[in-house]
Amino acid sequence: MRAQIKLGRIAGIEIGLHYSWFLIAILIVFSLKDQFRTVNPDWSLGLMWAIALVTAVLFFVALLLHELAHSLVAQSRGLRVRAITLFALGGVSQIESEANDAKSEFWIAIVGPLTSLMIGFICLGLERLASPRGSSEPGAPLLALLLWLGRINIVLAVFNMIPGYPLDGGRVLRSLIWWLGHSQERATKWASYTGQAVAFLFILYGLFGFFTGRNYQGGLWLAFIGWFLLDASRSTSLQMEIMTGLRGRRVGDIMERDCALVEGHISLQDFVDEYVLRSGRRCFMVVQNNSLVGLITPNEVKKVPREEWLQTSVQSAMIPLRQLHVVSPETSAIEALDLLTHQDVNQVPVVSQGHPVGIFSRGQVIRYLQAHSELGKH
Ligand SMILES: [Zn+2]
Repeated sequence: MRAQIKLGRIAGIEIGLHYSWFLIAILIVFSLKDQFRTVNPDWSLGLMWAIALVTAVLFFVALLLHELAHSLVAQSRGLRVRAITLFALGGVSQIESEANDAKSEFWIAIVGPLTSLMIGFICLGLERLASPRGSSEPGAPLLALLLWLGRINIVLAVFNMIPGYPLDGGRVLRSLIWWLGHSQERATKWASYTGQAVAFLFILYGLFGFFTGRNYQGGLWLAFIGWFLLDASRSTSLQMEIMTGLRGRRVGDIMERDCALVEGHISLQDFVDEYVLRSGRRCFMVVQNNSLVGLITPNEVKKVPREEWLQTSVQSAMIPLRQLHVVSPETSAIEALDLLTHQDVNQVPVVSQGHPVGIFSRGQVIRYLQAHSELGKH
C-alpha cells in the first residue's frame, strides 16, 4: 500500500493517505450526519455537517495515533519505520524489518489496540463528565462527537484484537507462539492459518447475513473485510517464507550468471531476429567495450515503430545505465528484492567493477527458492 498523498513527517516517519481513504471519510461524514439528524432533529443542517466533519477528522487522528503507537514502539526497539499510510480499512505502518525477538513483536502489536482503547475510554469518560444528569442520549453536539469517537475507538481496539494475522491480535498470537515455541517460522505459519480461518468465518458469516437478508449491508461489508484479510494473511505468509529463504544470501548466490549480452551498435531489427526470437529471452544487457551501458527488453523495442527498426541501434532504444538501478554481487538478496519492489521493476543488472556479471530478477528468486525447497534444505 503506497501513499498517494503525502501529509508530512512525524518522528521521521512519512505520513500519507491512499485515495481509498477518501471513500471511507465521505461515508463516515454522510452516515454521521444522518445519525445526528435522527438523534437531534432540532440541530441546523450546517451544524450537523460541521460536527460530522470534525468527528471524521478526529477519527482520522485517532487512527493515526494507533499507527504511530505501533511505529514508535518499533523504533524504540531498533526497527526502522518508513511510513504510515491510511487507507479504506484503517492504517498500515511500513516497518522495514521483522522484530528480532518475540517480546518486541508482542509490544509493537499490542500497543496499537491499547492506544485505541485508551482514546475510547477517555472520550467516553469526558462525555459522561460533561453530560447533564439523567439523560441517556447526547443533546449537545460536542457530546455526540465524544460518544461516537469513544465507541468507534473501542470497536476498533476489539476488532484489531481478533487473532487473525495480519491483524494486531494475530501478531500478538504470533509473538506468543514464537515466545513459547522458540520458532519464529512455526509461529508465523500458525498465525497465518488462524488468520485465514478467521477470514473464512468473516466471509461465510457475511455472506450468510447477506443472502438470508438478516444483515444486508453489514453482511456484505463483513465479507469484504474477510476477503481483504484472507488476501493479506496469504501474502504476508508468502512474504515471510521468501524472507526466511533469502536470509543470509547475497545477490551473487542467486543471480543468473549466464546473462544475455548484446552490443549497443547493432540494429533493433538484428537484435529482434538474432537475439530475442532465437533465444526466447526477454532481458538483455547492452555492452560497449565490455562495459555495461544499459538494458533492453521487448518493451523498449515496441516503443520504436517497426519501420524504423533497421535504422535504430539498440543503444538508442535501450534504458541507459544512468536510469537503471544496479546491484553488486555482494548486495544482500533481501535488500535487492526490496529494491525491485520499490522501483517497481522485474530485474536489475548485477555489476562488478563496471562489468556486467549477472541479472537479479524476481523470477530467479522464485526459481532459487523452489529448487532449495525441493531439495529440502533452506
Ligand atoms: Zn494496529
